[in-house]
Amino acid sequence: MTVATRPLTGIVTTDLAAVTRGRWVPTDRFEETLATGIGWLPANLSLTPFGTIASPNPWGSTGDLRVLPDPDARYRTSATGAETPFDIVMGDIAALDGTPWPCCPRTLLKEAMAALSETTGLSLRVAVEQEFQLFGASFPPAHPLSVAGLRRADPFAPRLAAALEEAGVEPEVLIAEFGTDQFEVTCAPASALVAADRAIAIREITRETARMLGWHASFAPKTAPDAVGNGVHIHFSLVDGEGRAVGYDPAAPAGLSRIAAGFCAGILRHLPALTMLSAPSLSSYYRLRPNHWSASWTWLADRDREASLRICPVTTAGGRDPAPQYNIEYRAADATANPYVALAAIIRAGLAGLAEELPPSPIIGEHPEALDPARREALGLRRLPETLEEAMAALEADSVARGWFSPDFIETWLGVRRAELERLDGEPPEEVCRLFRDLY
Ligand code: GLU
Ligand code: MG
Repeated sequence: MTVATRPLTGIVTTDLAAVTRGRWVPTDRFEETLATGIGWLPANLSLTPFGTIASPNPWGSTGDLRVLPDPDARYRTSATGAETPFDIVMGDIAALDGTPWPCCPRTLLKEAMAALSETTGLSLRVAVEQEFQLFGASFPPAHPLSVAGLRRADPFAPRLAAALEEAGVEPEVLIAEFGTDQFEVTCAPASALVAADRAIAIREITRETARMLGWHASFAPKTAPDAVGNGVHIHFSLVDGEGRAVGYDPAAPAGLSRIAAGFCAGILRHLPALTMLSAPSLSSYYRLRPNHWSASWTWLADRDREASLRICPVTTAGGRDPAPQYNIEYRAADATANPYVALAAIIRAGLAGLAEELPPSPIIGEHPEALDPARREALGLRRLPETLEEAMAALEADSVARGWFSPDFIETWLGVRRAELERLDGEPPEEVCRLFRDLY
């Protein structure tokens, strides 16, 4: 006997806990939802990673919104191994009359992109590189980066490659990474909006592909206190109105053009507050430690994986042109962050650097931990927040960064984090990591 299924399409939004949520309509009726979307409510923005609503919050029990699907941001594949197609459409939260809702993360990113291009004529090309670990598979041990590391999980990686390709995220490389049962997916650069959409689609498609094999793919920043971290590395480059790369200047130190240096200087100036937006959970701060190849100082370096902003390598092999490859990697991010918010903040900070014509930040070849405090001070190096409480204080102390968002948004953001701190109060790091491992 065949049991009928009617495929469903999810109209989704990603919240401040970086959880992608939505409502489902029969796929054959999806077109009918294009103009009016699905119902939503303001208090959903105060949902915590633990399935509670942070309280107090600015929203209460009243109010109604819509999530309007963006048909250009539909991610669909039949290759995850599931019985019915994976099919989600990213949406924008809007008021009942269809006007943008000022706290919608995806709208905040669009506004930041528009501000950058209106003020400078520039935009970003972005690719998000994501690490995760598989749990529940009882693989035999394998060496980091090894052939067996990938092949023992077969058909996971080839199935994932097919699903990501079919969904249109332009996957590039699948890696068995350094950590235990750790993998990484990279994809091709696109606009900041598409890159954030892809980051979400990649997470959900990866989770589903693992789930179909009976496993859990966890993107949590630390799945155990002594585990290798799972980073979300945000690669960006600046392009002009014609799409020409403007970040590379072969005559400049480390190839960083004056314009890209100004953009980076803005990011570095606001990095302590930005960290709250790109690494917002308690467990994020177990990852952001020196000597873990993550990020720990307001540090720009040429091809050093300890730096928070890493100038990435270019290759001239095969006669390739370095300019379009040249990019900067922001390493202080993880998958507990909403990628739209993280990118909106990076763009706003970079734009502030350009608007104020900040001088280029020094490109530092030594680890800040190896420098004496006076030298660090002279170089303008500051330690990133070491705990969630410090990160919250850094955001509260940076009035410029807070001003990139509405007061309701900041209140909601901090409220979600406060609820997280209350929920986790007194839990040992092992338990915090275990919870985030299962939730992300
Ligand atoms: N796993 C490291 C992190 O937490 C990154 C390793 C790498 O450079 O790929 O960010
Ligand atoms: Mg990696």
